[in-house]
Amino acid sequence: MADRYLSFTGTAPGRFLTRRLGLPQPAPLHRWSPRRPDLDGGLLHLTAGKSGLDLTPVLARTGLDTDDVTGRPAAVVLDASGVRDVEGLTEVHAALHPVVRSVAASGRIVVLGAPLDPADHHQAAAQQALEGFTRSLGKETGRGITVNLVRLTDAAAAESTLRFLLSPKSAYVSGQVIGTGAHESAAPHDVDRPLAGRTALVTGAARGIGEAVAETLARDGAKVVVLDVPQAEQDARRVAERLGGTALPLDITAADAGARIAEALPDGLDVLVHNAGITRDRRLVNMPAERWNPVLEVNLASVLRTTDALLAAGTLKRGGRIVATASIAGIAGNAGQTNYGASKAGITGLVRTLAPHAFAGHGVTVNAVAPGFIETRMTAAVPLFIREAGRRMNSLAQGGLPADVAETTAWLAHPASGAVNGQVVRVCGQSLLGA
Ligand code: NAD
Repeated sequence: MADRYLSFTGTAPGRFLTRRLGLPQPAPLHRWSPRRPDLDGGLLHLTAGKSGLDLTPVLARTGLDTDDVTGRPAAVVLDASGVRDVEGLTEVHAALHPVVRSVAASGRIVVLGAPLDPADHHQAAAQQALEGFTRSLGKETGRGITVNLVRLTDAAAAESTLRFLLSPKSAYVSGQVIGTGAHESAAPHDVDRPLAGRTALVTGAARGIGEAVAETLARDGAKVVVLDVPQAEQDARRVAERLGGTALPLDITAADAGARIAEALPDGLDVLVHNAGITRDRRLVNMPAERWNPVLEVNLASVLRTTDALLAAGTLKRGGRIVATASIAGIAGNAGQTNYGASKAGITGLVRTLAPHAFAGHGVTVNAVAPGFIETRMTAAVPLFIREAGRRMNSLAQGGLPADVAETTAWLAHPASGAVNGQVVRVCGQSLLGA
């Protein structure tokens, strides 16, 4: 379903009229394409507080010019990791206040923070303040500019995250706080095809977001396995053929789904994307168990079961990646979706708790994407006015595309993203719903 309002505000009369009426002003987003793979412009590197990070080599490898930022910077990185008190926050204001207006359209502001120090409540207060700052600035900037906060202790470990955030691939990710650890990450042999030689399985990949995820992982070099229900086998085969992968017709809720996947992948699996999901909306008062159970079964129980089975069988190799699919409905709640909200919040619990164990025991990271309003068949079926509200109620004033979720998944699946573990990253244009 095309977003006609976005097309209209892209015209001169549309811009004039909607501005006069005080209506939302969505800007066309610069998304990744082979022809425009980088942001247009330089990177401005600022510091607040005394930082111990050596960012220079990492920022130099983003592909953005860090030496000559004349005119409008495409990206601003503010290193506030050394801010330890309220005086340090004064420096945050002083650094960004003069430049925020000049950031280019579809630009990026990335604030770098430190983990909260449990022994120093002044540092913790100042570092937590950066979250409120970042999320508020994200709601102010407009023009397709995103604002995110990364907590880090090691610049090199956070490189894949900075590259993602400082690229057109993160066009619909804003207002997020991403924690990174200090784990060793493998630099890929081929930077353009970081998943070359790796196998990725995507559930529910015959269409929608799953199809886009499979496509993006294939672009990054992975051999993809397109899993979907047997009824969607034809579509799954079409997707697999197009991407040079294989189709696996299988209902993920089958009790032996994990064993069947393990059997189909004797050489093991590097990336497991739990994307299959369904809705059966009704208010709780009208919801029979027949609408509750399948949603919990597809969206949560099968994710738990197959994850456990594939880790236990050793199918997921060391250095492997699990990316599950949560939703902003599981964070903010949504009327008519007690079943869906419960299932998606369950994914968040699973990810946060399993992540350290899976990493320690199997060398596998576990993260989730939490999509907001994404233009798919699922959201095209939403009644017109609710659909329009869903599209506009975020800082970028538009819906996301399946490719936005796919790019975020590809970053989490990247061999160099080993320091990103246990994170739930919303792909929602900073929706007004949810934190
Ligand atoms: P979709 O309905 O277009 O596609 C879902 C796919 O999953 C379908 O191909 C379907 O056949 C498959 N599937 C369903 N049950 C399955 C099962 N038991 N076994 C195997 N495959 C099964 O949905 P979508 O919009 O592409 O959503 C993909 C994921 O993103 C879901 O988990 C959804 O909850 C989540 N999500 C979507 C949005 C959105 O705005 N579209 C927002 C938040 C979260």
